[in-house]
Amino acid sequence: MHFGKKILLIIIIVTIVLFSILTCFYKTGSRPEAADTLANWTITTIPAGGSLYSVLGNSELPMQEIGLFAVHFGENIDVTTIQPGDTLKYILTPDNRRIEKLIYIQEIDEQHHFYLQNDSLRYSLVKLPVRTETRLIKGTLDSTLDKSLLAMGLTAAEKQHINNGMEGEINFQKDARNGDKFLVLLEERYLGSIRLPRSKIMYVSYEGRLTGKHEMFRYQEDDDKSTLNGLYNLEGKSNNNSGVGFPLSRIHVRSKFGRRIDPVYGGWAMHQGIDYKASHGTPVFAVANGTVSSAGWNGGYGKCIVIKHPSGLSTQYAHLSSIGVKSGQSVRRGQIIGRVGSTGKSTGAHLHFGLIKGKTYINPTNLRMVGAEKLNDKQMVRFKQQQMQIRQLLLENGIS
Ligand SMILES: [Zn+2]
Repeated sequence: MHFGKKILLIIIIVTIVLFSILTCFYKTGSRPEAADTLANWTITTIPAGGSLYSVLGNSELPMQEIGLFAVHFGENIDVTTIQPGDTLKYILTPDNRRIEKLIYIQEIDEQHHFYLQNDSLRYSLVKLPVRTETRLIKGTLDSTLDKSLLAMGLTAAEKQHINNGMEGEINFQKDARNGDKFLVLLEERYLGSIRLPRSKIMYVSYEGRLTGKHEMFRYQEDDDKSTLNGLYNLEGKSNNNSGVGFPLSRIHVRSKFGRRIDPVYGGWAMHQGIDYKASHGTPVFAVANGTVSSAGWNGGYGKCIVIKHPSGLSTQYAHLSSIGVKSGQSVRRGQIIGRVGSTGKSTGAHLHFGLIKGKTYINPTNLRMVGAEKLNDKQMVRFKQQQMQIRQLLLENGIS
């Protein structure tokens, strides 16, 4: 085991033990009836390799009650999204036979509440009020844009987003020089004083002696998960060097590439792709031009399509409800090739998207997917308005 992981594991175990001791202490101490003070809550996190069962199994709840709760939980929350590190807080009834209240937290601003009412467990999703704030970052290039952006306090994901957008506009290797100026306008989300992940990049500009001045603005649809949301230049063009689109028109990642708890059989398994949440029948698009190398039933993958692309890479689309292409057929980027389903080894409608290099699966997040090469006329009308709003924000920040 990796040394860092060992330390992490020890920290998790110590935390759990501490909480167990604390809750024992509070249980034996004087406990006011149903007082909803923090002291009464058992607070824990899902440990690596653990589950709801293993966490609640540490409580005095009868196994039958844990089983009933797990079923109720599964009716309201997608169980495959349970991740180590998710927080679980609960209070039991005074006789320790039932759950009085339980809060499950995956994202800090979204809390899943379960509570006992009229002898049955109810569920509600509580969204905490999130405040947005814009932040302007002014920088001067020192070595690379990557290093400069990280030095300005941006996260790796934000930096990547800016880089991906600007690479279509500027040949950094050839033309970037130390002393070039850049600006980034971010919309950050806060809960109290805590900065939440997933801030939006509203605007980026870059100006250098050899590069000239380049600006990119965020285009945003009403649907926050639309794949069209992102950075475009003044004319509504995105960086599309890689020529790879999204397999769906809205993207909601359910499960990432890598090791995870197998949602069907339990235990650790290697997840050889990305799972996107989507409802049954949602159109699935070819992400790039290519030739269908297989289309049909493929064991656990159910109805599955594999497309071979001129780059030598292949893409895989699994658990489909229907297939609209045949082996040997040429397909174009953005063409509908099938529909989302839950065929094969699957726990509900979703698209499993895989990327294959030679004979091995590689992480598809390495693909730079772009929603649109160019916004259409209708989208441009909206984009122009959004550009004006962003310019106004820049003016308020002293940038003209
Ligand atoms: Zn999958």
